[in-house]
Amino acid sequence: MKATQVLVLNSGSSSLKYQLLEMADGSRLASGLVERIGEQGTGRLVHTPAGGERRERALSVPDHAAALRAAGEELAADGTGLDSPRLAAVGHRVVHGGRSFTEPTLVDDRVLAEIERLVPLAPLHNPANLAGIRTARALNPELPQVAVFDTAFHTTIPDHAACYAIDADVAAAHRVRRYGFHGTSHAFVSRATAALLDRRPEEVNVITLHLGNGASAAAVAGGRCVDTSMGLTPLEGLVMGTRSGDVDPAVVFHLHRVAGMSVDEIDELLNSRSGLRGLCGDNDMREVVRRMDEGDGRARLAFDVYAHRLRSYIGAYFAVLGRVDAVTFTAGVGENASRVRTAAVAGLDALGPVVDERLNTAADRGPRLISPEYARVAVAVVPTDEELEIATQAFALVNA
Ligand code: ADP
Repeated sequence: MKATQVLVLNSGSSSLKYQLLEMADGSRLASGLVERIGEQGTGRLVHTPAGGERRERALSVPDHAAALRAAGEELAADGTGLDSPRLAAVGHRVVHGGRSFTEPTLVDDRVLAEIERLVPLAPLHNPANLAGIRTARALNPELPQVAVFDTAFHTTIPDHAACYAIDADVAAAHRVRRYGFHGTSHAFVSRATAALLDRRPEEVNVITLHLGNGASAAAVAGGRCVDTSMGLTPLEGLVMGTRSGDVDPAVVFHLHRVAGMSVDEIDELLNSRSGLRGLCGDNDMREVVRRMDEGDGRARLAFDVYAHRLRSYIGAYFAVLGRVDAVTFTAGVGENASRVRTAAVAGLDALGPVVDERLNTAADRGPRLISPEYARVAVAVVPTDEELEIATQAFALVNA
């Protein structure tokens, strides 16, 4: 039997998301989620086979191994367990690959040790990702495990865009530089944009805007990333659901010295109580727009700050790229919120991107252009599919 399926695992600190994909046609065979791993009380598993009934059950999940075993049972019930000969590989989302990992990588002991060494750069994410890899490996040692890094697509960013202007020795000693995140999505979406324009990725320059709960922009020149808005951590850059994005670094000193807040409290403030939520109390863009339309001033300000930051980055990346062929929106907000798209390119006519409001507000779902024919710079909406991209990269690697 030919192995043509890939299991994609996205392992978080208390959750495990998975998808089984058939690589012959890129179709989704099943998806699922195990929640509350390692927490008090019982966990929960939700499993949905393609075209089948969603199954949900409570279960005990003391650790990632228990979670993956439970997911494996559900997958086996539909025909592809973790020991199935149909399975070609497991593709793992790994958040931080530092400068070490520029490509999808077949996991061995050396690779695990290197991901471990990067834990200080992603203390919440990399340990959870490692737990997922170790568990999958233990359950089926024969099966290739492929690590796909959120940072890999950004490793082509030149030093002049990746270096912070701080003491070079301190930066080097502590690996302080711009790494960027959401790379799998920016890679997928920039390539899909080239396809939408009927061009090869090497021929086009694209500004990609991944606007979900987390949000980042990337400048992609001929298929290679040359700048991105997230930095050492996913806190920098655009205004997000609960994260501040760019602030004057001295805000931290000020809050510490004047407000007496501890570093941990400021960390929590900037990551969890800022962004849209901090500005108006809601982190869901649907709520923000609804309230704004009812005349709520705080929601209006939150939306305006969000849009202003986006426009600033789009403008900056025109300067970084020199020539831009398309501006592309993706992820929850980017794919759905036509109002955000309108506001993001408003006033940028002189640079080239224009939105056609009829196309922008149409109920289409697939990859599409929302700019008029005459626009010098296309504006596109491309649904992101990080799982498909991880599976594609993993499958290509094991078949290389
Ligand atoms: P994540 O970053 O967690 O993967 P998503 O990419 O799914 O998140 O984006 C989630 C966000 O998308 C939600 O917080 C919500 O604000 C936004 N969103 C989803 N649907 C819509 C919509 N129809 N209109 C506006 N915003 C939406």
